[in-house]
Amino acid sequence: MTSPRKPAGTVASVTEPEPETETGATAHARTDDGFDGESEFTARLENFLSDHCSRITDPAEDEGEADGLARTRSFQGALVEARLAGLTYPTHLGGAGLSAQHQEVFTRVSAGWRLPTGPLAISHGMCLPMLNQFGTDEQKATYLPDNISGRSIWCQMFSEPGAGSDVAGLSMRATRDGDEWILDGQKVWTSGAHYCDFGIVVARTDPTLPKHQGLSMFIVDMRSPGIEVRPLVQISGARGFNEVFFSEARIPAANLLGEVNQGWNLAVSMLMFERVSIGAGGGALNARRSPELAALAREMGQASNPVIRQGLADLHIREEIKGYIGQRIRSSVAAGRVPGPEGSIAKLNGADLARRTRDLAMSIIGTAGQAWDGMDPSSDAAARWSSFCISAAGVSIAGGTDEVQRNIIGERVLGLPREPDSFKGAPWQDIPRN
Ligand SMILES: Cc1cc2nc3c(=O)[nH]c(=O)nc-3n(C[C@H](O)[C@H](O)[C@H](O)COP(=O)(O)OP(=O)(O)OC[C@H]3O[C@@H](n4cnc5c(N)ncnc54)[C@H](O)[C@@H]3O)c2cc1C
Repeated sequence: MTSPRKPAGTVASVTEPEPETETGATAHARTDDGFDGESEFTARLENFLSDHCSRITDPAEDEGEADGLARTRSFQGALVEARLAGLTYPTHLGGAGLSAQHQEVFTRVSAGWRLPTGPLAISHGMCLPMLNQFGTDEQKATYLPDNISGRSIWCQMFSEPGAGSDVAGLSMRATRDGDEWILDGQKVWTSGAHYCDFGIVVARTDPTLPKHQGLSMFIVDMRSPGIEVRPLVQISGARGFNEVFFSEARIPAANLLGEVNQGWNLAVSMLMFERVSIGAGGGALNARRSPELAALAREMGQASNPVIRQGLADLHIREEIKGYIGQRIRSSVAAGRVPGPEGSIAKLNGADLARRTRDLAMSIIGTAGQAWDGMDPSSDAAARWSSFCISAAGVSIAGGTDEVQRNIIGERVLGLPREPDSFKGAPWQDIPRN
């Protein structure tokens, strides 16, 4: 793997310079085997988790979207009170003002617990680092505290009906009008838009420029007039995605994130944060499944089956490797870098692991894992895993498909020639579109 490269934009540190925080906490000295106070921090964290979460090996609860969201918000509020939220973010912006090493401990310890933070994956994995790295001081002060505490939940709006893998070709327009921008166009596959308070959107601000050069990024209040969210129903019955229509939606000029027409650099950074979050982040998205599957194998009388045992050991090893990939990237981000192509490696590896987990789960459950209407995921392991089975393929698509990740690794890690582009340098408005 090459060393991470900085994108063209300026990149501030995720962790602020540390020595003195608002709360009087001081810098955390490194020792050979951790940091001062590590065992105290670990014990405090374990106490918190045992009071507020179930173990990963306990049966999952499926409580419906509204109850799930309420639980997410109250759990995140409790984390804030315990000074365990936004660990590496400064205290004056709602974080805990702690070190990257605390974050590593949190990621390691919490992997054994079922954190109800799924709805915050995009808020915290993508929007929070973007606001922190590219937001003005005013934007950070306005949005970070509520984002960290889960009082506001955020979504990401890149994909359009005509622009998925080729997101730089997107058509949504943003036109300046006095102190406002007017947004017109359609987004699709927007995860969680129907319950989100804010979103980050990319729109075309200058169609006369080549496609990568005329884009800008904006912060959007999802309840603004002119924004309509329409849910999409998936094969699993879930309603996680949405279409979002913008019809002359007006947003304040102050909601521009970064510079006008510099949106592509920011979009690449956000996609890399997304890939790291999917492939190597902490929390619900990256919970280790092997302990849960080992418990399931016992429950299904499969614990002595040598093929299942091999599969479980293989999964455990791959989850360990995934942990190390994540650790390496998180420490690079904490040192002030936006992840480069190593984000694609993490994402590709995470997608492969999701498919392997799915296949092993189905081998353990057998024919009971067939999906049918009326299954109750709160009481039925087969229902839970068949739902996982149906959604696992999505990991290979979200945040850029496996093929796109391989293109990035080919070009940026292996130095292979770039994909041919017969319209390179042409104004976006002259490129043929559907
Ligand atoms: C679970 C999930 C959550 C999502 N959440 C969001 C979200 O919150 N916000 C958002 O904006 N989007 C979201 N998406 C959309 C996602 O980013 C797009 O689906 C993805 O980028 C692929 O775009 P597409 O679906 O238009 O496929 P296309 O780009 O049309 O690709 C179709 C096929 O062609 C292949 N292909 C395309 N170009 C190339 C190439 N150059 N080389 C090789 N193969 C190629 C692809 O790999 C794919 O197999 C989500 C998707 C999923 C599955």
